[in-house]
Amino acid sequence: MKEFRAIRGTRDILPEETWRWHIVEDSAREVFGRYGFREIRTPIFEASEVFVKGTGDTTDIVQKEMYSFEDLGGNQVTLRPEGTPPVIRAHVEHRLGQGKSIDRYYYCGPMFRYERPQKGRYRQFHQIGVEVLGVEAPEVDAEVIGMAMAWLQALGVADLTLRLNTVGDEETWAAYRTALVAAQADRLDELCADCQRRHVTNPLRVLDCKKPGCQAVIADMPSIHDSLSAEAGAHFHRVQSSLESAGVPVVVDPRMVRGLDYYRLTVFEVASGALGAQDSVLGGGRYDGLVGRMGGDDVPGVGFASGVERILLAMPESESAPITDVFVVAFDEESSGKVHDIVQGMRAAGVRALTQAYDGRSKRSQGKAAHRSGAPWQIVVGPDEIAADRYTLKRVDDGYEKTVEGGELAAIAARLTRPSNSD
Ligand code: ATP
Ligand code: MG
Repeated sequence: MKEFRAIRGTRDILPEETWRWHIVEDSAREVFGRYGFREIRTPIFEASEVFVKGTGDTTDIVQKEMYSFEDLGGNQVTLRPEGTPPVIRAHVEHRLGQGKSIDRYYYCGPMFRYERPQKGRYRQFHQIGVEVLGVEAPEVDAEVIGMAMAWLQALGVADLTLRLNTVGDEETWAAYRTALVAAQADRLDELCADCQRRHVTNPLRVLDCKKPGCQAVIADMPSIHDSLSAEAGAHFHRVQSSLESAGVPVVVDPRMVRGLDYYRLTVFEVASGALGAQDSVLGGGRYDGLVGRMGGDDVPGVGFASGVERILLAMPESESAPITDVFVVAFDEESSGKVHDIVQGMRAAGVRALTQAYDGRSKRSQGKAAHRSGAPWQIVVGPDEIAADRYTLKRVDDGYEKTVEGGELAAIAARLTRPSNSD
Protein backbone atom coordinates (compact mmCIF):
# COMPACT_ATOMS: atom_id res chain seq x y z
CA MET A 1 0.00 0.00 0.00
CA LYS A 2 1.12 3.50 -0.75
CA GLU A 3 2.46 5.33 2.25
CA PHE A 4 1.65 9.02 2.36
CA ARG A 5 4.36 11.50 3.21
CA ALA A 6 4.37 15.15 4.24
CA ILE A 7 5.02 17.42 1.25
CA ARG A 8 8.64 18.43 0.56
CA GLY A 9 9.60 21.45 2.64
CA THR A 10 6.91 20.78 5.27
CA ARG A 11 7.39 18.97 8.58
CA ASP A 12 5.30 17.32 11.21
CA ILE A 13 5.94 18.71 14.64
CA LEU A 14 5.62 15.60 16.77
CA PRO A 15 4.39 15.34 20.36
CA GLU A 16 7.97 14.85 21.58
CA GLU A 17 8.90 18.27 20.14
CA THR A 18 5.81 20.38 20.77
CA TRP A 19 6.76 21.05 24.38
CA ARG A 20 9.83 22.97 23.12
CA TRP A 21 7.58 25.01 20.82
CA HIS A 22 5.45 25.87 23.84
CA ILE A 23 8.54 27.18 25.64
CA VAL A 24 9.31 29.55 22.75
CA GLU A 25 5.69 30.68 22.37
CA ASP A 26 5.05 31.10 26.11
CA SER A 27 8.24 33.07 26.49
CA ALA A 28 7.24 35.38 23.62
CA ARG A 29 3.87 36.02 25.26
CA GLU A 30 5.51 36.70 28.57
CA VAL A 31 8.32 38.97 27.32
CA PHE A 32 6.26 40.83 24.69
CA GLY A 33 3.45 41.21 27.23
CA ARG A 34 5.83 43.12 29.49
CA TYR A 35 6.30 45.61 26.64
CA GLY A 36 2.56 46.04 26.11
CA PHE A 37 2.15 43.90 22.98
CA ARG A 38 -1.10 42.03 22.38
CA GLU A 39 -1.61 39.13 20.02
CA ILE A 40 -3.33 39.46 16.66
CA ARG A 41 -4.37 36.42 14.58
CA THR A 42 -4.98 36.96 10.89
CA PRO A 43 -6.07 34.39 8.29
CA ILE A 44 -3.50 32.04 6.75
CA PHE A 45 -4.47 33.27 3.28
CA GLU A 46 -5.19 36.71 1.91
CA ALA A 47 -5.97 38.32 -1.40
CA SER A 48 -2.67 38.11 -3.36
CA GLU A 49 -2.80 41.91 -3.74
CA VAL A 50 -2.07 42.28 0.01
CA PHE A 51 1.44 40.90 -0.57
CA VAL A 52 2.03 42.29 -4.05
CA LYS A 53 1.40 45.75 -2.61
CA GLY A 54 2.54 45.15 0.96
CA THR A 55 5.66 42.99 0.59
CA GLY A 56 6.42 44.64 -2.75
CA ASP A 57 6.35 43.36 -6.30
CA THR A 58 10.12 43.52 -6.84
CA THR A 59 10.95 41.31 -3.85
CA ASP A 60 12.08 37.71 -4.20
CA ILE A 61 9.14 36.70 -2.03
CA VAL A 62 6.55 38.09 -4.44
CA GLN A 63 8.43 37.27 -7.63
CA LYS A 64 9.48 33.70 -6.85
CA GLU A 65 8.29 32.35 -3.53
CA MET A 66 4.55 32.77 -3.14
CA TYR A 67 1.98 29.99 -2.95
CA SER A 68 -0.70 31.71 -4.99
CA PHE A 69 -3.73 30.19 -6.62
CA GLU A 70 -7.15 30.98 -7.90
CA ASP A 71 -9.84 29.59 -5.60
CA LEU A 72 -13.05 28.02 -6.85
CA GLY A 73 -14.74 31.43 -6.85
CA GLY A 74 -12.08 32.87 -9.15
CA ASN A 75 -10.35 34.90 -6.41
CA GLN A 76 -6.55 35.27 -6.53
CA VAL A 77 -5.32 34.24 -3.08
CA THR A 78 -1.92 33.64 -1.50
CA LEU A 79 -0.82 31.61 1.53
CA ARG A 80 0.86 34.27 3.66
CA PRO A 81 4.62 34.39 3.13
CA GLU A 82 5.13 36.94 5.93
CA GLY A 83 3.16 38.54 8.72
CA THR A 84 3.46 42.30 8.31
CA PRO A 85 1.07 42.97 5.37
CA PRO A 86 -1.80 40.99 6.93
CA VAL A 87 -1.37 42.76 10.26
CA ILE A 88 -1.50 46.13 8.53
CA ARG A 89 -4.45 45.03 6.42
CA ALA A 90 -6.32 44.10 9.63
CA HIS A 91 -5.22 47.30 11.39
CA VAL A 92 -6.58 49.39 8.52
CA GLU A 93 -9.72 47.29 7.95
CA HIS A 94 -10.81 47.46 11.60
CA ARG A 95 -9.80 51.13 12.03
CA LEU A 96 -7.63 50.14 14.98
CA GLY A 97 -5.33 53.14 14.95
CA GLN A 98 -7.28 56.26 15.87
CA GLY A 99 -5.85 59.72 16.41
CA LYS A 100 -2.44 59.54 18.01
CA SER A 101 -2.80 55.95 19.11
CA ILE A 102 0.23 53.67 19.33
CA ASP A 103 -0.60 50.07 18.51
CA ARG A 104 1.60 47.13 19.48
CA TYR A 105 0.83 43.78 17.93
CA TYR A 106 2.47 40.38 17.99
CA TYR A 107 1.64 37.33 15.91
CA CYS A 108 2.66 33.72 15.79
CA GLY A 109 1.99 31.12 13.15
CA PRO A 110 2.87 29.38 9.89
CA MET A 111 4.24 31.17 6.82
CA PHE A 112 4.67 29.74 3.33
CA ARG A 113 7.46 30.35 0.83
CA TYR A 114 8.45 28.29 -2.17
CA GLU A 115 12.19 28.07 -1.45
CA ARG A 116 14.74 25.31 -1.75
CA PRO A 117 14.26 23.22 1.40
CA GLN A 118 17.34 22.58 3.54
CA LYS A 119 18.24 22.59 7.21
CA GLY A 120 16.61 25.67 8.78
CA ARG A 121 14.75 26.53 5.56
CA TYR A 122 11.32 25.11 4.87
CA ARG A 123 8.35 25.83 2.65
CA GLN A 124 6.02 25.95 5.60
CA PHE A 125 7.78 27.51 8.56
CA HIS A 126 6.73 29.47 11.60
CA GLN A 127 7.31 33.04 12.60
CA ILE A 128 6.76 34.99 15.75
CA GLY A 129 6.81 38.69 15.03
CA VAL A 130 5.84 42.10 16.34
CA GLU A 131 4.75 45.43 14.86
CA VAL A 132 4.55 48.88 16.48
CA LEU A 133 2.42 51.34 14.52
CA GLY A 134 2.29 55.06 15.23
CA VAL A 135 5.75 56.03 16.52
CA GLU A 136 8.38 57.90 14.56
CA ALA A 137 10.95 58.17 17.35
CA PRO A 138 14.13 56.11 16.91
CA GLU A 139 13.88 55.12 20.58
CA VAL A 140 11.09 52.73 19.66
CA ASP A 141 13.34 51.01 17.10
CA ALA A 142 15.80 50.41 19.93
CA GLU A 143 13.01 49.28 22.25
CA VAL A 144 11.82 46.65 19.76
CA ILE A 145 15.38 45.47 19.10
CA GLY A 146 16.14 45.33 22.82
CA MET A 147 12.99 43.28 23.36
CA ALA A 148 14.00 40.82 20.64
CA MET A 149 17.42 40.36 22.25
CA ALA A 150 15.94 39.99 25.76
CA TRP A 151 13.59 37.31 24.47
CA LEU A 152 16.27 35.34 22.58
CA GLN A 153 18.57 35.54 25.59
CA ALA A 154 15.81 34.32 27.92
CA LEU A 155 15.42 31.31 25.62
CA GLY A 156 19.15 30.62 25.83
CA VAL A 157 19.70 31.00 22.06
CA ALA A 158 23.45 30.63 21.70
CA ASP A 159 26.05 33.07 20.40
CA LEU A 160 23.87 35.99 19.25
CA THR A 161 25.06 38.77 16.97
CA LEU A 162 22.88 41.81 16.33
CA ARG A 163 23.67 43.47 13.03
CA LEU A 164 22.27 46.94 12.48
CA ASN A 165 22.12 49.28 9.52
CA THR A 166 20.09 52.05 7.96
CA VAL A 167 18.73 52.00 4.44
CA GLY A 168 18.15 55.73 4.66
CA ASP A 169 15.20 57.80 3.53
CA GLU A 170 14.06 59.16 0.13
CA GLU A 171 16.73 61.86 0.09
CA THR A 172 19.47 59.34 0.94
CA TRP A 173 18.15 57.00 -1.64
CA ALA A 174 18.22 59.54 -4.47
CA ALA A 175 21.93 60.12 -3.85
CA TYR A 176 22.88 56.55 -3.10
CA ARG A 177 21.03 55.04 -6.04
CA THR A 178 23.10 57.01 -8.51
CA ALA A 179 26.38 55.93 -6.91
CA LEU A 180 25.26 52.32 -6.61
CA VAL A 181 23.91 51.96 -10.13
CA ALA A 182 27.15 53.38 -11.54
CA ALA A 183 29.28 50.98 -9.47
CA GLN A 184 27.15 48.00 -10.52
CA ALA A 185 27.09 48.98 -14.18
CA ASP A 186 30.89 48.80 -14.30
CA ARG A 187 30.91 45.17 -13.17
CA LEU A 188 27.58 43.85 -14.43
CA ASP A 189 29.18 40.82 -16.08
CA GLU A 190 30.47 39.61 -12.69
CA LEU A 191 26.98 39.59 -11.19
CA CYS A 192 24.58 36.62 -11.26
CA ALA A 193 21.53 36.62 -13.53
CA ASP A 194 19.24 37.53 -10.62
CA CYS A 195 21.43 40.47 -9.71
CA GLN A 196 21.56 41.69 -13.30
CA ARG A 197 17.77 41.80 -13.11
CA ARG A 198 17.87 43.46 -9.66
CA HIS A 199 20.28 46.05 -11.02
CA VAL A 200 17.41 47.26 -13.19
CA THR A 201 14.40 46.69 -10.92
CA ASN A 202 15.84 47.30 -7.47
CA PRO A 203 19.61 47.95 -7.35
CA LEU A 204 19.70 48.04 -3.55
CA ARG A 205 18.63 44.40 -3.49
CA VAL A 206 21.89 43.35 -5.16
CA LEU A 207 23.55 44.01 -1.78
CA ASP A 208 21.43 41.20 -0.35
CA CYS A 209 22.73 38.49 -2.71
CA LYS A 210 24.44 35.60 -0.93
CA LYS A 211 26.33 34.23 -3.99
CA PRO A 212 30.12 34.39 -3.53
CA GLY A 213 30.69 36.00 -6.96
CA CYS A 214 28.27 38.80 -6.15
CA GLN A 215 29.60 39.13 -2.58
CA ALA A 216 33.03 39.98 -4.00
CA VAL A 217 31.56 42.77 -6.12
CA ILE A 218 29.34 43.99 -3.27
CA ALA A 219 32.36 44.42 -1.02
CA ASP A 220 33.67 47.08 -3.43
CA MET A 221 30.42 49.02 -3.73
CA PRO A 222 29.94 52.40 -2.10
CA SER A 223 28.52 52.49 1.43
CA ILE A 224 25.10 54.00 2.01
CA HIS A 225 26.61 55.78 5.00
CA ASP A 226 28.39 58.14 2.61
CA SER A 227 25.03 59.22 1.17
CA LEU A 228 22.90 59.52 4.33
CA SER A 229 20.69 62.59 4.56
CA ALA A 230 21.00 64.65 7.74
CA GLU A 231 17.69 63.31 8.98
CA ALA A 232 18.47 59.66 8.24
CA GLY A 233 21.90 60.04 9.84
CA ALA A 234 20.35 61.56 12.98
CA HIS A 235 17.79 58.78 13.21
CA PHE A 236 20.47 56.10 12.93
CA HIS A 237 22.55 57.88 15.55
CA ARG A 238 19.71 57.92 18.04
CA VAL A 239 18.92 54.24 17.49
CA GLN A 240 22.56 53.43 18.22
CA SER A 241 22.78 55.60 21.31
CA SER A 242 19.51 54.18 22.69
CA LEU A 243 20.82 50.67 22.21
CA GLU A 244 24.07 51.64 23.83
CA SER A 245 22.36 53.04 26.90
CA ALA A 246 20.24 49.88 27.10
CA GLY A 247 23.48 47.87 27.08
CA VAL A 248 22.67 46.03 23.83
CA PRO A 249 25.85 45.26 21.84
CA VAL A 250 25.58 46.03 18.12
CA VAL A 251 27.60 45.33 14.99
CA VAL A 252 26.98 47.99 12.33
CA ASP A 253 26.93 46.36 8.91
CA PRO A 254 26.81 49.09 6.23
CA ARG A 255 25.94 46.60 3.47
CA MET A 256 23.00 44.89 5.11
CA VAL A 257 19.75 45.85 3.33
CA ARG A 258 17.36 42.93 4.05
CA GLY A 259 15.14 41.38 1.41
CA LEU A 260 12.02 43.50 1.66
CA ASP A 261 11.03 46.59 -0.28
CA TYR A 262 9.26 48.40 2.47
CA TYR A 263 12.15 49.04 4.83
CA ARG A 264 13.17 52.61 5.47
CA LEU A 265 15.81 53.90 7.90
CA THR A 266 16.51 51.18 10.49
CA VAL A 267 17.11 47.56 9.48
CA PHE A 268 18.49 44.79 11.69
CA GLU A 269 19.12 41.10 11.81
CA VAL A 270 20.05 38.71 14.59
CA ALA A 271 22.19 35.66 13.80
CA SER A 272 23.19 32.73 15.98
CA GLY A 273 26.66 31.20 15.80
CA ALA A 274 25.06 27.87 16.73
CA LEU A 275 23.53 27.63 13.24
CA GLY A 276 25.12 26.74 9.93
CA ALA A 277 24.39 28.40 6.61
CA GLN A 278 20.89 29.59 7.57
CA ASP A 279 22.06 31.52 10.61
CA SER A 280 19.58 34.37 10.79
CA VAL A 281 17.03 33.84 13.55
CA LEU A 282 15.29 37.20 13.39
CA GLY A 283 15.09 40.25 11.17
CA GLY A 284 13.22 43.48 10.98
CA GLY A 285 13.23 47.19 10.54
CA ARG A 286 11.24 50.37 10.10
CA TYR A 287 8.60 50.64 7.40
CA ASP A 288 7.25 54.20 7.52
CA GLY A 289 4.94 54.74 4.53
CA LEU A 290 3.71 51.17 4.25
CA VAL A 291 0.50 51.66 6.25
CA GLY A 292 -0.37 54.62 4.02
CA ARG A 293 0.38 52.63 0.86
CA MET A 294 -1.92 49.90 2.14
CA GLY A 295 -4.80 52.35 2.43
CA GLY A 296 -4.54 53.46 6.06
CA ASP A 297 -3.58 56.73 7.73
CA ASP A 298 0.07 57.23 6.96
CA VAL A 299 1.45 56.19 10.34
CA PRO A 300 5.03 55.01 10.79
CA GLY A 301 5.83 51.41 11.76
CA VAL A 302 8.64 49.20 12.97
CA GLY A 303 8.79 45.48 13.68
CA PHE A 304 10.57 42.18 13.37
CA ALA A 305 9.88 38.56 12.52
CA SER A 306 11.71 35.56 13.94
CA GLY A 307 11.94 32.03 12.63
CA VAL A 308 10.78 29.56 15.25
CA GLU A 309 12.44 26.51 13.65
CA ARG A 310 15.80 28.30 13.66
CA ILE A 311 15.38 29.48 17.24
CA LEU A 312 14.71 25.89 18.27
CA LEU A 313 17.82 24.69 16.41
CA ALA A 314 19.90 27.30 18.24
CA MET A 315 18.43 26.65 21.69
CA PRO A 316 20.16 24.34 24.16
CA GLU A 317 18.98 20.74 24.32
CA SER A 318 16.95 19.98 27.40
CA GLU A 319 15.03 17.08 28.87
CA SER A 320 11.27 17.21 28.63
CA ALA A 321 9.41 17.14 31.92
CA PRO A 322 7.22 14.02 32.44
CA ILE A 323 3.67 14.54 31.26
CA THR A 324 2.21 12.39 34.03
CA ASP A 325 2.40 12.79 37.83
CA VAL A 326 0.80 9.52 38.91
CA PHE A 327 0.77 6.31 36.89
CA VAL A 328 -1.78 3.76 38.09
CA VAL A 329 -1.16 0.06 37.40
CA ALA A 330 -3.82 -2.69 37.63
CA PHE A 331 -2.52 -5.85 39.36
CA ASP A 332 -4.92 -7.99 37.29
CA GLU A 333 -7.66 -7.46 34.73
CA GLU A 334 -10.43 -7.59 37.39
CA SER A 335 -8.92 -4.53 39.10
CA SER A 336 -8.92 -2.36 36.00
CA GLY A 337 -12.43 -0.96 36.60
CA LYS A 338 -11.31 0.41 39.96
CA VAL A 339 -8.12 1.76 38.36
CA HIS A 340 -10.16 3.79 35.89
CA ASP A 341 -12.29 5.22 38.73
CA ILE A 342 -9.17 6.20 40.66
CA VAL A 343 -7.56 7.81 37.61
CA GLN A 344 -10.70 9.82 36.84
CA GLY A 345 -11.02 10.90 40.48
CA MET A 346 -7.43 12.15 40.50
CA ARG A 347 -7.87 14.03 37.23
CA ALA A 348 -10.97 15.70 38.60
CA ALA A 349 -8.83 16.81 41.56
CA GLY A 350 -6.30 18.37 39.17
CA VAL A 351 -3.71 15.58 39.10
CA ARG A 352 -2.11 14.51 35.82
CA ALA A 353 -2.92 10.79 36.08
CA LEU A 354 -2.53 8.03 33.51
CA THR A 355 -2.99 4.28 33.21
CA GLN A 356 -2.56 1.60 30.59
CA ALA A 357 -4.95 -0.87 32.20
CA TYR A 358 -6.81 -1.45 28.96
CA ASP A 359 -7.39 -4.47 26.69
CA GLY A 360 -6.03 -6.95 29.26
CA ARG A 361 -2.47 -5.56 29.28
CA SER A 362 -0.36 -7.45 31.81
CA LYS A 363 0.94 -5.89 35.04
CA ARG A 364 4.44 -6.23 33.60
CA SER A 365 3.58 -4.34 30.42
CA GLN A 366 1.85 -1.58 32.42
CA GLY A 367 4.86 -1.38 34.72
CA LYS A 368 7.16 -0.82 31.75
CA ALA A 369 4.89 1.92 30.45
CA ALA A 370 4.86 3.52 33.91
CA HIS A 371 8.65 3.51 33.91
CA ARG A 372 8.85 4.96 30.38
CA SER A 373 6.41 7.71 31.30
CA GLY A 374 8.82 9.03 33.92
CA ALA A 375 5.86 9.63 36.25
CA PRO A 376 7.26 10.40 39.70
CA TRP A 377 4.49 8.53 41.54
CA GLN A 378 2.95 5.08 41.06
CA ILE A 379 0.03 3.17 42.53
CA VAL A 380 -0.55 -0.55 42.06
CA VAL A 381 -4.21 -1.52 42.51
CA GLY A 382 -5.10 -5.20 43.16
CA PRO A 383 -7.81 -7.23 44.93
CA ASP A 384 -6.20 -6.67 48.39
CA GLU A 385 -6.18 -2.87 48.00
CA ILE A 386 -9.71 -2.86 46.69
CA ALA A 387 -10.97 -5.09 49.57
CA ALA A 388 -9.30 -2.89 52.20
CA ASP A 389 -10.06 0.33 50.30
CA ARG A 390 -6.49 1.46 51.06
CA TYR A 391 -3.98 2.43 48.37
CA THR A 392 -0.26 3.11 48.43
CA LEU A 393 1.27 6.04 46.58
CA LYS A 394 4.88 5.19 45.92
CA ARG A 395 7.48 7.80 44.99
CA VAL A 396 9.60 6.21 42.30
CA ASP A 397 12.97 7.86 42.88
CA ASP A 398 13.44 7.05 46.57
CA GLY A 399 10.78 4.40 47.31
CA TYR A 400 8.95 6.60 49.85
CA GLU A 401 5.39 5.28 50.38
CA LYS A 402 2.18 6.77 51.65
CA THR A 403 -0.89 4.56 52.24
CA VAL A 404 -4.27 6.28 52.33
CA GLU A 405 -8.02 5.58 52.36
CA GLY A 406 -9.72 5.44 48.95
CA GLY A 407 -11.84 8.47 49.88
CA GLU A 408 -8.78 10.68 50.40
CA LEU A 409 -6.59 9.34 47.62
CA ALA A 410 -7.33 12.03 45.02
CA ALA A 411 -6.92 14.91 47.47
CA ILE A 412 -3.67 13.56 48.86
CA ALA A 413 -2.27 12.84 45.39
CA ALA A 414 -3.14 16.42 44.46
CA ARG A 415 -1.26 17.74 47.48
CA LEU A 416 1.78 15.51 46.89
CA THR A 417 2.12 16.37 43.23
CA ARG A 418 1.48 20.11 43.43
CA PRO A 419 4.52 21.74 41.78
CA SER A 420 5.45 23.88 44.78
CA ASN A 421 5.09 20.96 47.20
CA SER A 422 8.18 20.37 49.29
CA ASP A 423 6.93 17.16 50.97
P1 ATP B 1 16.85 34.44 4.98
O1 ATP B 1 17.88 35.46 4.67
O2 ATP B 1 17.35 33.36 5.90
O3 ATP B 1 16.11 33.93 3.79
P2 ATP B 1 14.79 36.38 5.29
O4 ATP B 1 15.54 37.63 5.21
O5 ATP B 1 14.06 35.87 4.10
O6 ATP B 1 15.75 35.21 5.86
P3 ATP B 1 12.59 37.36 6.86
O7 ATP B 1 11.65 37.39 5.75
O8 ATP B 1 13.04 38.64 7.45
O9 ATP B 1 13.84 36.43 6.54
O10 ATP B 1 12.00 36.45 8.04
C1 ATP B 1 12.48 36.53 9.38
C2 ATP B 1 13.00 35.20 9.88
O11 ATP B 1 12.19 34.13 9.45
C3 ATP B 1 14.38 34.84 9.37
O12 ATP B 1 15.36 35.47 10.12
C4 ATP B 1 14.40 33.33 9.56
O13 ATP B 1 14.71 33.01 10.91
C5 ATP B 1 12.98 32.96 9.31
N1 ATP B 1 12.80 32.39 7.96
C6 ATP B 1 12.68 33.04 6.78
N2 ATP B 1 12.49 32.19 5.74
C7 ATP B 1 12.47 30.94 6.31
C8 ATP B 1 12.28 29.62 5.79
N3 ATP B 1 12.06 29.40 4.49
N4 ATP B 1 12.33 28.58 6.66
C9 ATP B 1 12.55 28.77 7.97
N5 ATP B 1 12.71 29.99 8.52
C10 ATP B 1 12.67 31.06 7.71
MG1 MG C 1 14.56 34.61 2.52
